Order: sequence, then structure tokens, then C-alpha cells
Amino acid sequence: VILREYVSEFPREDDMEVRREEMKLEVPPGSNAVLVKNLYLSCDPYMRLLMSPALPNSLFSSYTPRSPITGFGVAKIVDSGSPEFKVGDLVWGTTAWEEYSLIADPRGLFKIDHTDVPLSYYTGILGMPGMTAYFGFYEVCSPKKGEHVFVSAASGAVGQLVGQFAKLMGCHVVGSAGSKEKVDLLKTKFGFDDAFNYKEEHDLNAALKRYFPEGIDIYFENVGGKMLDAVLLNMRVRGRIAACGMISQYNRNPPEGVTNLMHIVYGRVRIEGFAVFDYFDQYSKFLDFVLPHIREGKIVYIEDVAEGLEKGPSALVGLFSGRNVGKQVVAVARE
Ligand code: NDP
Repeated sequence: VILREYVSEFPREDDMEVRREEMKLEVPPGSNAVLVKNLYLSCDPYMRLLMSPALPNSLFSSYTPRSPITGFGVAKIVDSGSPEFKVGDLVWGTTAWEEYSLIADPRGLFKIDHTDVPLSYYTGILGMPGMTAYFGFYEVCSPKKGEHVFVSAASGAVGQLVGQFAKLMGCHVVGSAGSKEKVDLLKTKFGFDDAFNYKEEHDLNAALKRYFPEGIDIYFENVGGKMLDAVLLNMRVRGRIAACGMISQYNRNPPEGVTNLMHIVYGRVRIEGFAVFDYFDQYSKFLDFVLPHIREGKIVYIEDVAEGLEKGPSALVGLFSGRNVGKQVVAVARE
């Protein structure tokens, strides 16, 4: 899947094209590279940021037009020059949106040791979004039992987990999402105490006052913009906001203004941004926590799987209109 040109507003399916090219299915002699067969690719909102030429930070580098896009995925090693990986190993980490990818520096790949859970989970609950929810909630939010937690984009890859972690901790949790189907899922499948469709609320401040009459202790911020502005009016004293992402702003240039910033002062609110990459060295701690919860059915996970690499562009752009219900995955091959 090739990015044709840089994107300036909403990404469209035809900003990308699927091209067939021959490649040698072997690692160049003497190199440390691995050749992988990609099985599942992950659609993540940050990929839109990489479709812009100039990034305002050094967290990522932009994609190169007319080259395959990259992202997280689950793959199988089919040839290896690295002593760390052998043929047949399953891995997850950064790969390209291709059937096969030559990964020159495999140090960023994680070996998959547990296959009693769906392999696709390593794009979501057991991969980057799972760690985002886990470290973002437990470390950045400093949660306490009984606190009132609000999660936006709550049915997505990260949000559905944040809500469930907060419930495990004994918090009162409300989520927002963009359709009735998603709101129902939040309440019936993920155990949120309540949920609302933000697209049906003309006045987000009033909606939040309805769901949080005593205010919000913790806001897990996934969307930014108008929602953040309304949340600032509803934070309790010494509340915390984990600034995970602001998807409502990724296609806007310039971004929307936020007007209620003084409420950070009035409420002595702590807002802390974080990047999941800073926690990657703690992957095994995260797995030790999450795997038993999955096996015992104490945490559930919903995925939205598009079949075939050709469906990748449409699946990826669907994130920005909320077409995905749960974690958006692209299944390239099953084994
Ligand atoms: P999701 O699976 O939640 O998919 C994106 C969802 O965002 C859509 O389904 C849609 O849900 C919602 N959305 C899209 N456009 C808008 C909009 N204009 N306003 C409000 N909601 C919108 O994505 P993820 O769970 O993977 O990511 C959630 C957030 O976490 C993103 O902001 C992402 O960038 C961030 N993130 C940050 C990381 C970090 O290290 N800090 C790591 C990983 C993710 P709906 O139908 O409910 O509107």
C-alpha cells in the first residue's frame, strides 16, 4: 500500500494505492535483517500524522510519498539474518503495509510467545494500543478507587480498555462514542456505568454535567477540540487529564482553539501528555497483567477486521469518520 502524495485534510482511500511488485523472498547475505510475512496490520490514528510533510514534533517521521506506508503489525519470520529471530517465529512491531517486508533493523520487534489468544490481539489489546491504555491509565492518571472517570472515543482500540481498567479499579466510568451501536457496546459489553453519543449532544458541557453532577476526577483524552473544552468546565479540583491523543484535530489545519484553559488553574488540574513508546521496555510487566485477565474473561476486546491488504486504505481512513467498531485490523494472511 503506497502513499501517493502528502495529505492536507481528511485522508481519502485514493490517497493510497495498492501496487503489485516482485521482491526476493530472502535476506541479503551477511545482513542482520529479517524477512517477514505480514499477517495482521494495525490501523492507528497517528498514521494520519505521518501523511503530512512537516511534523510538529520529533516523535515520528513522515512517510515518504510513493513508498509503502508503515505501521504496527503481526508477522511471521520467513528468513532471518538475525541471531535473535529464527524462521517460523511470530513477532509484532513496526512493519510495512506489504505482503512481505524486509526489516533491516529487527531490534524493535517483539517475539510472540503466547498463541492461545487470537494473534490479531497483538495489534491491539496485547500490542501498542493495549500498552497505551494500561500505562496511560494506571501511570498517568494516578487513579483511585471510587473516582469518576470519563473516556472519549471510548469504544475504540484504546478507549474500550481504559474503561475496563477503570472498572477493575472500582471507578465510576462514563464513555462517549459516535453511534448508538457503540454506546450500547460500552454499556453492555465493556461494563461502563454509562455512555452517550456525543454527536447527538448540542451542548457537551450540559451533557457532561448530566453524567457527572459532581464533576470528573479523571479524563482520558482521545479526541481533543470541543470535547476537551467542555471537559475543562467539568473537572473536579485536583483532577487529572491524560492527554493520549486528539483525533478530532488530526485533519484540521489550523487546529481548533480551546477556550477554557483558565479552568486548569481554578481546578488545579494536572494535564499530562504521554507517548506509549516510552513504556515499550515494560512490555513484559504489561503482558503479565493483561494476559490472565483475557484468559479469565475479565477483560474483553472487540476488533473490526478488514479482509485483505486491498481493504487497508479504506479501513485506515474509516478511523476518521468512526466507521470502525472496536480495534481496526487488516488481515493480510492467516498464517
Ligand atoms: P480508535 O480505535 O478509537 O479509532 C478512532 C475513533 O476516533 C473513531 O472510531 C471515532 O470514534 C473517533 N473519532 C474520529 N474522528 C473523531 C472526531 N472528529 N471527533 C471525535 N471522535 C472522533 O483509535 P485508537 O483507540 O487507536 O486511538 C485513540 C486515541 O489515542 C487517538 O487520539 C490516538 O491518536 C491516541 N493514541 C495515542 C497514543 C500515545 O502514545 N499517546 C498511542 C495510541 C493511540 P467515534 O465513532 O466514537 O467518534
